[in-house]
Amino acid sequence: MTQQHCILIGAPVDSGKKRPGCLMGPDAYRTAGLARALHDLGHTVSDLGNITATPVAKVQTKHSAYQLEETIGWTQSLAMTAHNAIADAVPIFLGGDHALSLGSISGVNRYATAQGRPQFVLWLDAHSDFHTLETSTSGNLHGTPLAYLTGRNGFPGFPEMHAPIPQENVCMLGLRSIDRPELDALASSRIAHHDMREIDEHGIARPLSEFLTRVSAAGGMLHVSLDVDFLDPSVAPAVGTTVPGGATVREAHLVMEMLHDSGLMTSLDLVELNPFLDERGKTALLMVDLAASAFGRRVFDRPTRPFQ
Ligand code: MG
Ligand code: MG
Repeated sequence: MTQQHCILIGAPVDSGKKRPGCLMGPDAYRTAGLARALHDLGHTVSDLGNITATPVAKVQTKHSAYQLEETIGWTQSLAMTAHNAIADAVPIFLGGDHALSLGSISGVNRYATAQGRPQFVLWLDAHSDFHTLETSTSGNLHGTPLAYLTGRNGFPGFPEMHAPIPQENVCMLGLRSIDRPELDALASSRIAHHDMREIDEHGIARPLSEFLTRVSAAGGMLHVSLDVDFLDPSVAPAVGTTVPGGATVREAHLVMEMLHDSGLMTSLDLVELNPFLDERGKTALLMVDLAASAFGRRVFDRPTRPFQ
């Protein structure tokens, strides 16, 4: 197995939606043993601790976005941290809500662009997070990262995306809750989007395999963004946006194992974990297990746990 250097970056972003709690996520991943799991797989691990948002002045806008300046500040600090970390490591962003991807992915994309390599994004989520400030009725910015990253207009005050990620470089898996404006925008986009109906009928391996083939052929860098609500809430209850009918434990592990086999993943977000809503840490432990699979743990390596 290829040894990698992993950098854990705590990003206690809690400004992307109104229900608080994701700020506790980074320490829940630490408590659940993420660093030890990666170390036990032969990787080296360093932990940058928790970073903070850059202070940002008030932004004048006609849109009513929740905690806009705070999220812009996170986008700035995360983009810089991501850009620096990915030069010689695999950054793992410990969220924090999904607004953190505005920064983590814009930072790694800036690095990829400078290297002359295309950036690809695998979005594992019940939601498409493809709103702009104009289309969002909730004003929750955790529902906007893919619109920003692919260069859609409607992000006043945010750093400009100088090299937006091409729509065809994005793949969404696990969709089952999409607002109408997002659906209309997705339908006319070149984003590969696969909902749970399609996964039920044809399995999760096929669309992922097709996407990984494209990433490989292009010599791309691959960022994986794993939202807790990709998983079914029965196995992963610690999230504020539960949607029934999500990925099973096996489907999620298969995705992670295929990612490891591909050798293509260059950065990872673990987002939307709200430890306040968890049941004896079971969601945090599952997310750590999934991360371990993405870094080489096999089915037969998995310890048997007592029934919980
Ligand atoms: Mg999300
Ligand atoms: Mg979601």
